[in-house]
Amino acid sequence: MKDEIVIAQALNKQVRIHAARTTEMVRRARELHDCYPTSIAALGRVMSVTAIMASDLKNPYESVTSIINGHGPAGTILAQAQGNGDVRGFIGDPHLYFSREDGHLDVSKAVGTSGSLTVVRDTGLKEPFTGVTDLQTGEIGDDFTYYFAISEQIPSVVGVGVLCDQEGVKAAGGLIYQLMPNASEEAIAFCENVAATQKPVSTLIDEGLDLEEMIKMYFPDAEILDHKDIRWHCDCSKEKFLTSLSTLSEEDLQEMIDDNKGAEITCQYCSSTYTFTTEELQGALNRKHGI
Ligand SMILES: [Zn+2]
Repeated sequence: MKDEIVIAQALNKQVRIHAARTTEMVRRARELHDCYPTSIAALGRVMSVTAIMASDLKNPYESVTSIINGHGPAGTILAQAQGNGDVRGFIGDPHLYFSREDGHLDVSKAVGTSGSLTVVRDTGLKEPFTGVTDLQTGEIGDDFTYYFAISEQIPSVVGVGVLCDQEGVKAAGGLIYQLMPNASEEAIAFCENVAATQKPVSTLIDEGLDLEEMIKMYFPDAEILDHKDIRWHCDCSKEKFLTSLSTLSEEDLQEMIDDNKGAEITCQYCSSTYTFTTEELQGALNRKHGI
């Protein structure tokens, strides 16, 4: 089944719901970055929530970027999703495998707990909106719950998970439901009850449950509003890196030209490598000079 997001509302429009299946994109990220289980669980969770946040964007070129650094061995985890459904991401250390005594992956140990979650919403027009909150548990779901409450003032329940086995990623996804400002005490109590009883999202996806079914299992009166396709895609290109080379200082560029060895740049998101000849570096320097 392909990756997608289903958006719904329920309880008389007092709750907005997003359900996402992200198995394929998380598998792709695991292959590209050679991730071990705990690293891909952490990266996959951040990618899944970021994809959900971007699914509300109006324009294809708008983007949401989530950056987590909890001062744990994982280093920086970054995921970026665009309004057109493209998602990409990376993790500082892809080779982490920590498990708890109960056999579950210990994501918090990899991420760390004393750092921040930064969310950048870029509309491509005005200054990007940036929200920063303290990490809570390093389990990602809780950290985004806190972010939504503090930075966006939206009470939310964030369920997100990546299920791994020996072969790799079995299933990944997320379920987020958020209370609208008009929510009644009954609606709040209903959501609290769902949160207390719901099964892990990745387990439900692994069992083959359709996203609409998942939403209606918890919110029987849900009205489905939209389906959106999402996918792993990195839009890096040699042209884009050539443009970024032009932002280096003249001294640095001249030094690379004098070395006469060309340059090699690897994309952090997808590990694609681009090589530049001395002539191309000279071209970048000439453009800086307006030649
Ligand atoms: Zn790339």
